Amino acid sequence: MTDLFISTKNIHKVKEFKRILEPLGINIITETDLGRDLPDVVEDGETLQENSLLKARAGCKETGMISVADDTGLFVKALGGEPGIFAARYAGEGCTPADNRKKMLEAMKDVPDGERDAYFECTIACVFPDGREICVAGRCDGFISKDEIGDLAFGYDAIFECEKGRFSVISGDDKDSVSHRGRALRAFAAEITKYL
Ligand code: IMP
Repeated sequence: MTDLFISTKNIHKVKEFKRILEPLGINIITETDLGRDLPDVVEDGETLQENSLLKARAGCKETGMISVADDTGLFVKALGGEPGIFAARYAGEGCTPADNRKKMLEAMKDVPDGERDAYFECTIACVFPDGREICVAGRCDGFISKDEIGDLAFGYDAIFECEKGRFSVISGDDKDSVSHRGRALRAFAAEITKYL
C-alpha cells in the first residue's frame, strides 16, 4: 500500500477518494488520522489547477507525505459560466452548501427545461516531497434541477442531474462512474503508478 495524505477537511471528498483509490492499493490518510488540525489554505489561484496545487503543496509541506488535493468548479451556462471556480463561495464568504443551493435555484428559477445545462470540473493535484507534481482533470456534464432531492449533505449534489440521475440519489458507484471527481481520480490512478 502507498500512503497518500489528502489535503481537505471535506469528509465527502475523502469518501470518494477512498472509494476509488483504496481498491487500487492507495491508502488515503486524513489530518484526523494524523491527529492534526491543519490551517485552511488560502485558495487565491486563478484556476482549479492552481488551487488544487496550492492545497497539495501545503499538505506536503505540513506532513512530509505525498499529498493530494482536489479543486472543483461548477459552470452553469445560463449564468454565463458562474459560479465557476468560485462555487464554494457562491452565496458569499462563510456560506453553507445549503445557502449556495438556495441561491442557485433562485438564480435559475426562470430558466426553462432544456436550457439548464451545467458541468462540474475537477482538478486533482499530487505533490511529492522531492518536488515532483501531477495534475489531472475530469468533467461531468448535466443540468441544474428545479428542486432539491435526496441527501443534502454534499455541496450541489441535491440539485445536479447527470446521465445516471440526481447526484444525491444515485449510488456512490454510479456517481463515481460519471462524475468529475470519478473521472479525475481514474486518470490520477493511471498516472501515479508511473511515479511510485
Ligand atoms: P471545492 O473543490 O471544495 O472548492 O468545491 C467547490 C464547491 O463545489 C463547493 O461548494 C463544494 O461543496 C462543491 N462540490 C465539489 N464537489 C462536488 C460534488 O461532487 N458534488 C456536489 N458539489 C460539489
